[in-house]
Amino acid sequence: MALKIWLNGRLVDEADAKVSVFDHGLLYGDGVFEGIRVYSRRVFELEAHLRRLYESAKAIRLDVPMQKTELTIAVERTVEANGIVDGYIRLVVTRGVGNLGLNPFTCKDSSLFIIADKIQLYPEELYETGMKIISATTARNHPLTIPPQVKSLNYLNNILAKIEALDSNVPEAVMYNHEGYVAEATGDNVFIVRNGVICTPPVEAGALEGITRNLVIRLAKKEGLEVVEKNLTRCDLYICEEFFLTGTAAEVIGIVEIDGRTVGDGKPGPVTKLLREKFFKYAHGQRK
Ligand code: PMP
Repeated sequence: MALKIWLNGRLVDEADAKVSVFDHGLLYGDGVFEGIRVYSRRVFELEAHLRRLYESAKAIRLDVPMQKTELTIAVERTVEANGIVDGYIRLVVTRGVGNLGLNPFTCKDSSLFIIADKIQLYPEELYETGMKIISATTARNHPLTIPPQVKSLNYLNNILAKIEALDSNVPEAVMYNHEGYVAEATGDNVFIVRNGVICTPPVEAGALEGITRNLVIRLAKKEGLEVVEKNLTRCDLYICEEFFLTGTAAEVIGIVEIDGRTVGDGKPGPVTKLLREKFFKYAHGQRK
């Protein structure tokens, strides 16, 4: 069934949802976006996603052409119009149509569109068996370039790392920062368990401040587990007991091999499984 897309103030048919070749979002990757889940017909963590969207836009001096309350309604209407029960929303704000040339101020109006559809990031069986990954040689953006906290349309940095992963026949790669510390995966945040303690790199290591990451930290603490934000090295990933990734699309997924080294006993570990279960309970409404 053809989708209904929210495009600049109204729902249109998928076939009519088109943007100009002069949109700076397309010409220069000039814009911001959010990926948001729908669980049991409810838009998951919408408030947190909208906060990050407006913050990302502010950081690049981009106007979001709607107030937060209006945008909330637009997201919900798009989900409803497409009958989404469990699905995925892509909310994009581009700089809009302007002249050729980098100057963003030639773009009079930013453009906003919302897609609500299905998503399957990694094959389903990998959630049971765990996933193999590699270390990418492409470093995460230096904080003096595109700030990694800004969820911009400029993902080439991560795409190059993703290509390295796919060339190695694995679905995902860990990216390190310019100092050699773990930053994140190409679209997910990184967690390990070492000596019984859950560790994740601080946002300053070059990660997006993941909404799933923040939720998983809260859920872990609620279970009485210790969580520490600290710099991790490649060696930490090689010797940890458990390793998992978090993200809106990825949810919580165990990693069982990195760079040919087996993680733990080669299966998703007990902390990973517990947090995955707690995450789904929370997502589907049993918010205890
Ligand atoms: N890092 C990057 C680079 C991402 O694109 C994402 C989102 N796909 C994440 C981390 C995870 O963030 P969230 O949990 O908010 O989806």
